[in-house]
Amino acid sequence: MEIFETIYDELIGFLGISRAWEILSTGNYDALRTYEGVTSFILPLIPLLVILELILGLIYKKPHTKVYRVNFLIYIFNRFIGRFIAIAMVTLCIGWFQPLALFQTEPTWYWFIYAYIIWEFGHFIYHYLGHKVRLFWCLHSTHHAPEEMNLSVTYAHFFLEAPYADTIRTTVCILAGVQPEMLFIIMFIDGTYGAFIHVGENVMKKGQFGFLGKYILTPSHHRVHHAKNPLYMDTNFCNLLNIWDRVFGTYQEEHEDEKIKYGITREMDSGNFMDVYFGEITALAKDVWSAPGLKNKMSYIFMPPGWHHTGDHKTAKVVRDEYFNTQKVTA
Ligand SMILES: [Zn+2]
Ligand SMILES: [Zn+2]
Repeated sequence: MEIFETIYDELIGFLGISRAWEILSTGNYDALRTYEGVTSFILPLIPLLVILELILGLIYKKPHTKVYRVNFLIYIFNRFIGRFIAIAMVTLCIGWFQPLALFQTEPTWYWFIYAYIIWEFGHFIYHYLGHKVRLFWCLHSTHHAPEEMNLSVTYAHFFLEAPYADTIRTTVCILAGVQPEMLFIIMFIDGTYGAFIHVGENVMKKGQFGFLGKYILTPSHHRVHHAKNPLYMDTNFCNLLNIWDRVFGTYQEEHEDEKIKYGITREMDSGNFMDVYFGEITALAKDVWSAPGLKNKMSYIFMPPGWHHTGDHKTAKVVRDEYFNTQKVTA
């Protein structure tokens, strides 16, 4: 019954409970004093929350099962390839760029804060480019396809996105002198928190953390980021600290009278794996093919999504500006 063993191993792998289970069953609680021991108990939180959220959804209202189905398929698809390329890229970037750093951080709390702010800056660059350069949007749009917010969305990524994101974030951190050990701790916190901000309204209705929301990026902020409403488009690129959104003017709070509509503006079938995963690549290929001249072809690849060679642009900036002009409201 090899198939059942494989399914069992995959399930344990998805839940991330093997190490925690080992500590509990052997009674080796000393392991809890180590970094690995602590993380082994934090790792299963998100997968367990995904299951809780799905159950709550089934009890209280009919969830969009197609969102879960497609995201599950994507999880399986990315399970190996994407992760291994990302780890390889992180290792390469550390080797290449560490000798170029002007100084190295020390393992103290204030250098940790410095390192985290630098990491967020790297994250901002990667994420901003993911929305503003059409080629990178092809990698990122998979994550924005779901028309409902729940924790399974955290698994919805094109397999090349993690390597591309980690290359930028690692390079920025290593060049700014962040030690690899500190970088790995930050990556762990970022990954866990970055998953949590996708928590659905079934589990957390508002997802705002009171005054903390001034400094911390909340689930509400990230819901705004996933919205296709003109007011919300291309805002809140940060992950845990919202500092860089404030610096670069992309900070946007959720308005009570502007209900979030999740998804992307392109006509698409969010229940179709091929469309969610490859739809933007096909659309870009079509635009490049039919555009007149090399300059226009290249512009389609590197200009923001919505750019059009006739000058009739439908970029997020154009749509948002039009919205403000007609509504006469300020963000
Ligand atoms: Zn995004
Ligand atoms: Zn997201």
